[in-house]
Amino acid sequence: MKSFKKFAAVAGVAIIATAVASSATAAGTAWTYTGLTGPSHWKTIDPTNYATCADGTAQSPINIVAPTRSDLVNLAFSYKPSEAGIFNNGHTVEAEPLGTSTSAVKIDGVSYNFAQFHFHAPSEHEINGMHYPVEIHFVNKSADGKLAVVGVFVKVGATNAEWAPFISKMLSATANAEETKVELDWAKLLPRNKQTIRYNGSLTTPGCTEGVKWNVFNHAIEMSQAQINTFLEAYSGNNRPVQPLNKRVVTLDSTSAK
Ligand SMILES: [Zn+2]
Repeated sequence: MKSFKKFAAVAGVAIIATAVASSATAAGTAWTYTGLTGPSHWKTIDPTNYATCADGTAQSPINIVAPTRSDLVNLAFSYKPSEAGIFNNGHTVEAEPLGTSTSAVKIDGVSYNFAQFHFHAPSEHEINGMHYPVEIHFVNKSADGKLAVVGVFVKVGATNAEWAPFISKMLSATANAEETKVELDWAKLLPRNKQTIRYNGSLTTPGCTEGVKWNVFNHAIEMSQAQINTFLEAYSGNNRPVQPLNKRVVTLDSTSAK
């Protein structure tokens, strides 16, 4: 009886441990940005789903140096104001349009529906080896599942009224988007000047899936130091290090006044 009890207790612990491990993976909390579960170990954590993080050849982010200049067709944004759900996913704070969203962006003739934005601090992309304090990613998805991410750098400057509703809820947001709602005018969160830097890359979080169209605005938006500090208080150091460019071409729109 004694030994049976002991076995049951051990088995019980094993079951609990398995349940915790799998739910942590499902919730996306197993990987981190530092230490033994940091970026250089992402493949090891889940070799089935995260292999591309180590084996991919078109990974993001990158250090942007001397991009090729070429005249590009502007991104055509049709982002419309809507109610936003704000939530904390354990790696960043995110905002997504609630209800039926009709916000989209057209790139090279393909329409991508706006799904969510989230942020990294400091910026994930570097310009000539330099980081901005914050980079925001607007994630857009086409009908056939292709991703186009629009990157917005943030620099210290004037208080940004358009971003204030999101910033005011960042620190109190829970894991449930339905619990924290604000009105956001998504289009006004972007820089006025729409000149972009473009290249083909990947998601910057596990599984680091490739085939992502990257569009990084060349002009940063301004926020006050106090506003930026709220981002840093929510998350700091949630940036993946830059990845090898390999043979990829990085293009800067040659038309600077967009
Ligand atoms: Zn991101």
